[in-house]
Amino acid sequence: MATPAGAPRTVVGLEIHVQLLTASKMFCGCAVSFGAPPNTLVCPVCLGLPGALPVLNRRAVDLGLRTALALGCRIHPRSQFHRKNYFYPDLPKNYQISQYEYAGHPPLATGGALEIVTEGARRLVRIRRVHLEEDTGRLVHAEGASGSLVDFNRSGVPLMEIVTEPDLRSPAEAREFLTALRRLLQFAEVSSGRMEEGTLRCDANVSLVGDDGVPGIRTEVKNMNSIRAVERALAYEVARQAEARRRGEAVVQETRHWDERRGVTFGSRSKEEAQDYRYFPEPDLVPLEVDEAWLERVRASLPELPAARRDRLMAAFGLGGADADRLTASPAMARFFEETVAAFPDARVVANWLVGEVAAYLNEHGTEIDAITLTPRRLADLLRLIEDGTLSGRLAKEILVAMIKDDLDAVAVVEARGLRQISDEAALGRIVEEVLAAHPGPVADVRAGKDRALGFLVGQVMKATGGRANPEAVNRLLRERVGS
Ligand SMILES: [Zn+2]
Repeated sequence: MATPAGAPRTVVGLEIHVQLLTASKMFCGCAVSFGAPPNTLVCPVCLGLPGALPVLNRRAVDLGLRTALALGCRIHPRSQFHRKNYFYPDLPKNYQISQYEYAGHPPLATGGALEIVTEGARRLVRIRRVHLEEDTGRLVHAEGASGSLVDFNRSGVPLMEIVTEPDLRSPAEAREFLTALRRLLQFAEVSSGRMEEGTLRCDANVSLVGDDGVPGIRTEVKNMNSIRAVERALAYEVARQAEARRRGEAVVQETRHWDERRGVTFGSRSKEEAQDYRYFPEPDLVPLEVDEAWLERVRASLPELPAARRDRLMAAFGLGGADADRLTASPAMARFFEETVAAFPDARVVANWLVGEVAAYLNEHGTEIDAITLTPRRLADLLRLIEDGTLSGRLAKEILVAMIKDDLDAVAVVEARGLRQISDEAALGRIVEEVLAAHPGPVADVRAGKDRALGFLVGQVMKATGGRANPEAVNRLLRERVGS
């Protein structure tokens, strides 16, 4: 997007916390699971009891390495865990084990980039670093209770932090970046990437640079629980800073929280500086050493990534770029497409239905392909009923919705609703005769060459049959009998 002359330029960097898909925690054997009763997935290590020693989860490192490879980062053969010291009731050790970056102590990986597309333009957003750390516990504010409760089930859950360079130039670019990153993490099978469930969390640093090139004060925006919330919060914050600049007021360096309901950000405690955390190397963990053999094993295990999947779908099934993009929006959608094609080999028809009717249903209901009752086999069965003339396309659309809502096969919906298409010429012929007799005006119009009147007559036959008439047969019978 071009910045109008004289308008300040938006500068956004993101810090993304990704919950890794591991079975156990970062430094102990406790299970990672949600919905368990509070404080049942804990042990002396993740409760920070004196004398308990952490042991690094190798699987978490694998997933961090996968991400670093997928983003084209430089992976450091030796990195170090640090203690980030601060007090908060959800942090039983009074420090978080994380990877801090300073001389001689790189994090797991640095550099790399991710491509985004906004308004048709492709651009690389640079990655500053990828590092591993552990999650904290969770404060629970129970209704009517006088204080807060703490649940330590989440304490020590493996997290990966991905930090971008301040390369994003608008709220829309931040949205595109998060969408692309989530897709990459899901295809790489690193994280479920669900912001609504907290397995992907994003904080944003926002500032404006004046046309004199002088950077403005930066604020950090938190508490955004969806990609759409990030875009809205950034739009609000950019407008707020621009207004302050216009009035000649100072922007304060602070953390601001997004209020989803009111649609505003509001300031809270001022941001701690790095030195306040008193980082120092974690004495209970040896440095993390990743040799070439380990890296090679991770490289060999890396699943097909979105760009490769998209290219393969285009080459193997003759799809256009736009369809291939939409079919690789998530691994679940890509898998659904390929499994449906295995059962119904007309890939273009399958693609049309998935990016058309099925996507419309998912959008309308705010859901995902793997969260509804439709299966590839059920969709293939429905498409076969259109192909063999049992159903018109229009009826099939209705049936699709009923299949999803009622958890049924296509044939079951057709039978239950008596929706089998009428292709029997004798039966259709009688209805056509009735329609012609009832509408002499349009019949005369068709004979005078007005094709729109024919459409009206087709519509009347469809209406009389509750949409079940075979449209091709109706067209042909009408033309024969009107003699146009
Ligand atoms: Zn534990």
